[in-house]
Amino acid sequence: MSVARRLTHSTQHNGKPLQFNITAKQDHSVPARLLRLLQSRGALRPGSGLVTGVIGLVLAVLSLLAVLAFHFPEYLTKPEIRRRYDVELLRRVLLGALVLSGSFALLNAVLGRVRWLAGTTFALVLLSAALGGHAVPVDPDFPDHTPYIGLDWLVLDLLGSALLFVFIEKARPLRRQQPVFREAWQTDLTHFAVIHLLVGLLMAVTNGAAHGLVTWVDPDSLQAAVQRLPFPAALLLCVLLADLVQYGVHRSFHEVPWLWRFHAVHHSAKTMDWLAGSRLHLVEVLVTRSLVLAALLMAGFSRGVIDAYVVIVGFHAVLNHANVNLPGRRLGPLRHLIVTPSYHHWHHACEPAALGRNYAAHLPFIDRLFGTQLLGTPPWPERYGVLEDDVPEGFWAQTRHPFRRRKT
Ligand SMILES: [Zn+2]
Ligand SMILES: [Zn+2]
Repeated sequence: MSVARRLTHSTQHNGKPLQFNITAKQDHSVPARLLRLLQSRGALRPGSGLVTGVIGLVLAVLSLLAVLAFHFPEYLTKPEIRRRYDVELLRRVLLGALVLSGSFALLNAVLGRVRWLAGTTFALVLLSAALGGHAVPVDPDFPDHTPYIGLDWLVLDLLGSALLFVFIEKARPLRRQQPVFREAWQTDLTHFAVIHLLVGLLMAVTNGAAHGLVTWVDPDSLQAAVQRLPFPAALLLCVLLADLVQYGVHRSFHEVPWLWRFHAVHHSAKTMDWLAGSRLHLVEVLVTRSLVLAALLMAGFSRGVIDAYVVIVGFHAVLNHANVNLPGRRLGPLRHLIVTPSYHHWHHACEPAALGRNYAAHLPFIDRLFGTQLLGTPPWPERYGVLEDDVPEGFWAQTRHPFRRRKT
């Protein structure tokens, strides 16, 4: 049996259409139906109205959150990004999302498909419009140093990443039958949301820890040399240093038993796609980001170089988990230079030969250097997850998992 065929078989259980399991005794109220929709998984049946219904609902929810962010920018937006974006462009995007969402709802209502979903979506669109929609005025003098949650960051990154990566995954799928709403999508979406909403707190703790570590050393001469480098050279060096530190931290999370309890959360994903990379314990996020940032600050990289690295790592980390058929072999010699989805999928493989392999996030030669490289054959593993399979499903259960007493 070919590898492609085996892969299809191994994920076939994900290919079921969304089922509401409606029985005579089931609650048909809208909240109960919404709850069942949120708990469902599988492919959305074409022609049932679910594709347009779900896209419309997602756009309506994101639009409502965006309207709230316009109302309370001091508490619901991230200062570092709100200073940069084009507010007029965002208002047009919000208007477009509201019109599209409302149109899908109207279409489904007229065609008599999933009317309860269309009604809910339309109600959310009307609520957004009643709250001012895309035209909510923003006081230019709102206070700048208030505690906040990154609601704008969540809405923008979720919309942008979903559009980009769902497109890439549909254009070049690795597992064609794996649906967008695959097994455990709820857990990973919750991890994604929490990491984005807590961005301010995570940044404050990371910056504090990193600057605290930097005060231990006095690397003035090194910093001066790094700051004289041209931008492209500095960025390359920054990626190299960050990946070396990330390698050490990542390997420690695998090899130190109590640290593994945190990192096992990331490895518990049994389905790989763009969202699976968000499954990270907050302690691991804080430790890894703090140590990498401390190293970059010690080396003296400028804010511009570090910001560019953050964009690269954000994109590359998501791509490496994606359900996209980009095996290293097709890239020829480039596969030795840059980590590919195939390379990182093998890091997640649930088989003994792959344990403790492919720690690098960007540069595979680091694994080669330390003897931990596995150039997988076949190019993709069949199964993902933790060998012991002892990590529970769900965000809260996974957050508590490392602190639980182990059964003996
Ligand atoms: Zn790992
Ligand atoms: Zn990973």
